[in-house]
Amino acid sequence: MNTLNIKNKETSLRNYGIINDNIFYQLHPDQLHQITLEKGLGVETSNRTLAVNTGEFTGRSPKDRFIVKDETTKDRIWWGSINIPFETEKFDKLYNKVIDYLNNVNEVYVRDCYACSHEDYRTNIRVISEYPWSNMFAFNMFIVPNENEIQNFKPEWTVINAPGFMANAELDGTRQHNFAILNFTKKVVLIGGTGYTGEIKKGIFSALNFILPVEKNTLPMHCSANVGNAGDTAIFFGLSGTGKTTLSTDPNRKLIGDDEHGWTKDNSVFNFEGGCYAKVINLSKENEPEIYGAIKKGALLENVILNNDRSVNFGDTSITQNTRVSYPIQHIENIMQPSIGKNVKNIFFLTADAFGVLPPISKLTPSQAAYHFISGYTAKVAGTEAGVVEPEPSFSACFGAPFMPLHPAEYGKMLSQKMIETGVNVWLVNTGWTGGPYGIGTRMKLKYTRAMINAALNGELGLYSYDKYHIHSVFGVVQPRECPGVPSSILSPRTNWNNDNAYYRAAFKLSNAFRENFKKFEAHASEEIRRGGPQRFAD
Ligand code: ATP
Ligand code: MN
Repeated sequence: MNTLNIKNKETSLRNYGIINDNIFYQLHPDQLHQITLEKGLGVETSNRTLAVNTGEFTGRSPKDRFIVKDETTKDRIWWGSINIPFETEKFDKLYNKVIDYLNNVNEVYVRDCYACSHEDYRTNIRVISEYPWSNMFAFNMFIVPNENEIQNFKPEWTVINAPGFMANAELDGTRQHNFAILNFTKKVVLIGGTGYTGEIKKGIFSALNFILPVEKNTLPMHCSANVGNAGDTAIFFGLSGTGKTTLSTDPNRKLIGDDEHGWTKDNSVFNFEGGCYAKVINLSKENEPEIYGAIKKGALLENVILNNDRSVNFGDTSITQNTRVSYPIQHIENIMQPSIGKNVKNIFFLTADAFGVLPPISKLTPSQAAYHFISGYTAKVAGTEAGVVEPEPSFSACFGAPFMPLHPAEYGKMLSQKMIETGVNVWLVNTGWTGGPYGIGTRMKLKYTRAMINAALNGELGLYSYDKYHIHSVFGVVQPRECPGVPSSILSPRTNWNNDNAYYRAAFKLSNAFRENFKKFEAHASEEIRRGGPQRFAD
């Protein structure tokens, strides 16, 4: 086995205080797969994909995400319940405890990799993990350096990942036993008490979301992206579960990336990552053949249940609704390499509106685009266990507030600027409910959403002629009347409800929720942006 035997690597691990005798450096994912099986930390599915359980946490824990407040950060971060401050002294103590813990576990896995596919932005990352499969996740999700790059590798950021280490909230200054803490001065992401792999990738994402706008005048985005045959780039913003991964994985367009991108000052869009992290709840070969096909040896499934024949039961949510798979982007056939796109022509804001109010596709004016970007609306559907449940509106600025260390207006301003410079089309797409709210209506069919996105990309929505569209009376957005491959009744949410009174009641309830949420941004928003909001309210 490749224990760490490169001399300078060893010394550089000592710099972290790590003196464990069993350090496995840069293992091949097949080796990590094998070790995971041998240690009984995972199982193999019938097609030889590794499947693990991440333990207590099967999702991120935003309340336990902290940022060290010091000279580097104190005047720049938008402090509050999203970016929770953590003291330097407390960080140093906790760091030492975690290192001490890692010096006493059986083995430690180290991976050198990098983020940002655009050369000018390349950020070297070292991931030090307690578990072999967490290290495999890092291999899948970050970009793999070549032999040469590895010889001279100098880590810039380090992720220390110790799921088995439990903090003592009272002594350590955390909220509870788990934590993910960003230290911008030391360039460390310290993770303990949680095995959820998403914390690793979103730790680095959050770091880049501070560094890129502040140091490089580049807009970081929580979005997926792909490129058409004509070389046009489309980007898809959206909160978790709205369809970024699903809709960007399109056999007719080259995938740039499924979750994290930067938009440079010279207008190219580059992926931060080297892999995808897809939800697999109810995944089917028929509806999502590319993602289904990517789940093979080398991919890492999380929190799924296997059938007796060791095939995956994608419908089983007994561990969590948030079942996942990570895979290197090369597992998808039609990809852009390197992961960089030019000529951004279309932006889609994806929202899973559980109230069934927003049109399945509509076009936004620049004011509306800025307003909706700052609002970041989607809906949360409560757990399925309690019978009939009320969905809740959920607003997350920039469609990714938990990962945005700066004030949302800073990202909003950059995006508006880019929209003006490029004259890009901006679309609002409701991938959520139609024909009524959650419980009465149904989720929009994936094939309809895909058809609407294709039509938008191909200029087939005919919005140039005023008999072809309708202005939504509450939200003021431009709603097409026809779309190839989609029944016209689907395009009008009001028609599709078949109950005008109930529809408008729901629509006003939602516009009120938008207005309420926007109050906290009003001071930062120009008249121009405020005009982009809904036009009519319940009162
Ligand atoms: P995250 O940020 O957590 O990665 P995401 O935006 O990438 O989330 P997806 O992984 O694409 O979200 O999840 C969308 C889910 O919704 C998938 O399970 C997909 O099958 C399902 N779905 C159902 N109907 C639609 C639709 N009309 N459009 C998009 N997705 C749909
Ligand atoms: Mn995704």
